[in-house]
Amino acid sequence: MNEFELIRAFFAAQPVTRADVKVGIGDDGAVLEVPPGMQVVVTTDALVSGVHFFPDVDPDALGHKSLAVNLSDLAAMGADPAWFTLSLSLPDADRGWLRAFCDGMFRLARRYQIQLVGGDTVRGPLSISISAHGLVPHGRALLRSGARPGDRIYVTGEIGDAGLALRQKHGELDLAETDRVAAAERLVRPMPRIEAGRTLRGIASSAVDISDGLLADLGHILEHSRVGARVRLGALPLSKLYRSLLPQVGWDTALAGGDDYELCITVPAHSVGALEKSEVELGCAVTCIGDIIAGTGLQLLDSAGKLYTPMTAGYDHFARQ
Ligand code: ADP
Ligand code: MG
Repeated sequence: MNEFELIRAFFAAQPVTRADVKVGIGDDGAVLEVPPGMQVVVTTDALVSGVHFFPDVDPDALGHKSLAVNLSDLAAMGADPAWFTLSLSLPDADRGWLRAFCDGMFRLARRYQIQLVGGDTVRGPLSISISAHGLVPHGRALLRSGARPGDRIYVTGEIGDAGLALRQKHGELDLAETDRVAAAERLVRPMPRIEAGRTLRGIASSAVDISDGLLADLGHILEHSRVGARVRLGALPLSKLYRSLLPQVGWDTALAGGDDYELCITVPAHSVGALEKSEVELGCAVTCIGDIIAGTGLQLLDSAGKLYTPMTAGYDHFARQ
């Protein structure tokens, strides 16, 4: 199979066809129609073997996650998924591997009607880079810079289980078989909060997706919005599994474990009613974990109201070892 046969066999015949794609895979570039009154949101995320995933990862799950992490960024911007490109570096053209990878990726693409419109395929160490494009009504994208003192801080779904799975992988935990499977599922098949992001467009004052851990990602909102925050540890939305392990693992895996792909948002007091009324459209639970305050920095309070200092921040690729 040469490069062009590979592209034809696996990528050109993909399941989503959108009317706004005037030219898709096959030419030197794609031609895309942006509807009047809409803006395009663009995001890129790379997944590199040994850094973002273990070399033995299930290729179906890898295909899913490669697209999911990009969709999560679109969700955090309040954008509706539209188009994506895929740059793939492969050590060899293994048909079985490619079939499974495409199955995982295109299953998610179909669900959110995002069309693959181009890419690049090269031989090299396994790595996957996707750029995703989404659409938002003019001026309505959710930014990191919109939080104001008095806003409440919310988190979608539950956080921490992906971090538990990572600690299990590193041999720091010894979970029971069923718990191990459940946690690993959160790590390898995150579901992007697209419905929530879309619904939050008129409600949230700021948003970020939690990829590097709550501390780091809420930290981005604080920095960009020039505000501080007070978060109650007891209010964090932890799974039943995490709660049962809390005495053993502590708070830090939920605070800084990363890979949750939930959204962290701020909501002005006057929009809290609207948020609470939209649980169905959000597609998930939202939990208030604290408040935005004037000043800088993040204060974590334990159930006794005492200041808690975590041992770790979030994941930083260039942090000194
Ligand atoms: P060019 O040399 O003009 O950059 P290529 O020969 O690399 O184009 O690719 C041919 C066509 O196949 C282009 O439309 C390109 O976008 C598409 N393509 C290549 N690799 C992929 C991929 N992994 N996924 C989707 N489309 C791809
Ligand atoms: Mg060309």
